[in-house]
Amino acid sequence: MIESVRVSYGSALELGLLKGMAGARSTTLYLFVSDAGCRGSCAFCPQSYGESSKISRIDWPRFRVEEVARALRGSGTLKRICVQCSDEPRIAYKAEEIVRRLASAGLPFSVSAPPLSVEEVGMLKSAGVEILTIPVDCADKKGYKSVKGRDLEETLGSLKEVVKVFGRGRTGTHIIVGLGESEREAAEMLDSVFRMGIVPSLFAFTPVKGTKLENAGRPTLGAYRRIQVARHLIVKAGMKASDFEYSQDGRITWFGCPDETLDEVLRRGEPFMVRGCPGCNRPYFNEKASGPFYNYPFRPDPKRLAEELWSN
Ligand code: SF4
Repeated sequence: MIESVRVSYGSALELGLLKGMAGARSTTLYLFVSDAGCRGSCAFCPQSYGESSKISRIDWPRFRVEEVARALRGSGTLKRICVQCSDEPRIAYKAEEIVRRLASAGLPFSVSAPPLSVEEVGMLKSAGVEILTIPVDCADKKGYKSVKGRDLEETLGSLKEVVKVFGRGRTGTHIIVGLGESEREAAEMLDSVFRMGIVPSLFAFTPVKGTKLENAGRPTLGAYRRIQVARHLIVKAGMKASDFEYSQDGRITWFGCPDETLDEVLRRGEPFMVRGCPGCNRPYFNEKASGPFYNYPFRPDPKRLAEELWSN
């Protein structure tokens, strides 16, 4: 039986497992299941360099599963439980155990895992998981292997199996902006996974000390904003990456829609907040509470967005 599980700092604050104030409160309980340690070799992730309490820039302290279950019983603010998994043998069975042991909280479950077998996908579905996410992470097909340490086809193959079992819209993936892809490649990856029935969620690359990419730069705010708009137009407005216009170096120069449509996207603001599973807000996952914000934890100012959108 699993003794303990890692809990994201913001979720631990929300559950009262840690004392302190959070600027934006977590609306999802983020858990990380790892036992023997991750065998993956994602260049950007501290977990692939041995035991670490960090995922992205966030600290994930360990708590006993019973403590988490007890704290959950007393909490009424959370909308979802997200079980994130390291890449280890039989990790899906450990995720399933956590789902069973926290099911009495009555919250919907998301699981984010490395590519899984058909049996493991079916087992998580039977355990009551609502949304299964297999992160693609990198949209740069040429550099995929060197960034993720595995083939893109393996990940897409597993996602296809998840769509068959969980269905369209109940299958997710993560795309990290800033891992060597051009804006065009990011838009094309968003487009192709969405047409497969997969809901993409955006992250901004965050350099973490001790990783191969610790000195690599973050994406520019302008590039991130343009990819957030691209995601929104593809997922919500039925557009395609081929509708957008690009410069020689693959930068988005026009979205192929009337200015009013773009103004409406800026006015609405939520395309620039965390988009993914319902209730997922993962505050400050890629930025400090003081900003600048990649995924806004609050509804942003349209004027500011307009300045950022066509900036560098
Ligand atoms: S989108 Fe959010 S809730 Fe869904 S798997 Fe990713 S991190 Fe978890």
